[in-house]
Amino acid sequence: MNTMKGDRLLEVKNLKAFYASKKGVIKAVDDVSFHIDTGECLGILGESGCGKSSLALAVIGLFERVARFAAGTSNVPGLRKEFDESVESNREDGPGVHGSVYFRGEELTGMEEEDLVNMRGKQISMIPQGLTHALNPQYSVGYQTGEPIEIHDEKVRLIELKRKVLDYLGLVSLADAGTRFVMDPGSFSGGEAQRILIAMSLISGPYLVIADEPTSALDVTIQRQILNVLAMVRDDFDVSLMTISHNAGVIAELADRVAVMYAGKFMEVGPAEKMFLDPDHPYTRGLMASYPKIAMMRMKTGGKRPRLRGIRGEPPDLTDLPSGCPFHPRCDYCVDTCVEKKPEYREVEPGHFIYCHRWGEI
Ligand code: SF4
Repeated sequence: MNTMKGDRLLEVKNLKAFYASKKGVIKAVDDVSFHIDTGECLGILGESGCGKSSLALAVIGLFERVARFAAGTSNVPGLRKEFDESVESNREDGPGVHGSVYFRGEELTGMEEEDLVNMRGKQISMIPQGLTHALNPQYSVGYQTGEPIEIHDEKVRLIELKRKVLDYLGLVSLADAGTRFVMDPGSFSGGEAQRILIAMSLISGPYLVIADEPTSALDVTIQRQILNVLAMVRDDFDVSLMTISHNAGVIAELADRVAVMYAGKFMEVGPAEKMFLDPDHPYTRGLMASYPKIAMMRMKTGGKRPRLRGIRGEPPDLTDLPSGCPFHPRCDYCVDTCVEKKPEYREVEPGHFIYCHRWGEI
């Protein structure tokens, strides 16, 4: 099935992804629903630890493996067993993944691992967070860039593979790719390693690329170059993007729509312009007011003189979330209902979703 611009590519419904821990269940992703259409970029913005990377892992079908490994290496006796038993019994509020992920009309949750492997790297790929660990120091960058093709097409001829690797390393503007592709990752800078990871994520012709903190650990000039490469991927390759970042500037550069995440939940989702220039959720407003670049952007479009301020308090412990709205201890607009009752995640205008009792009155 070919997908056309605007077709529904990814549909996520009521997704939960919970870890097991000594302190209790960590609700990293807690009942999240969204979609991504062909050719668009959804930006996921939130503070560190709000569940963004766990969401990416759950979408691509790797969450359980990571959570099982974390439970097994935690030094807490019985935690791995508890995790396995919870997954086995599919306990709705227990550790594991619950909910549905549909990709090109096919449900990924519950899919056999073999089928998921066929999908990953070929139809959906991920640029992982943490440049220093993402490339294997023992293999040349050329070998690693071509690996997704070798995994999915055992009959590929070496000459074709090599040509494709050089094409893609050239596309992401890796300097001297023709002579350096035989070198190991240690010979490349952080920005070059990120270009290699982007080439690797594209080489199999995926429909969707998930980029997790694509510019973290890079200096400002290199960040700009990487953002340009990702914008080229979005515009020229007809590839949909799910870009995850704690940096609103990165999301502002790339996203058509923005989802703001807090304590494992989406607080507000809407068109990028609305989210940056006139957000409605108290958390989104606080977040945007913390970024000088966004404040300047608002001023240029007729907004008030920028007044930078952070959000008071700390993000909550995901094993012990506040009652009602998880943002209530930090919210300036909190009333009794917010403490007593969870808000409903609802579509308040076409394409604009919010998780707040007081939408329309504040
Ligand atoms: Fe603030 Fe209440 Fe809205 Fe939560 S539900 S964001 S506490 S106003």
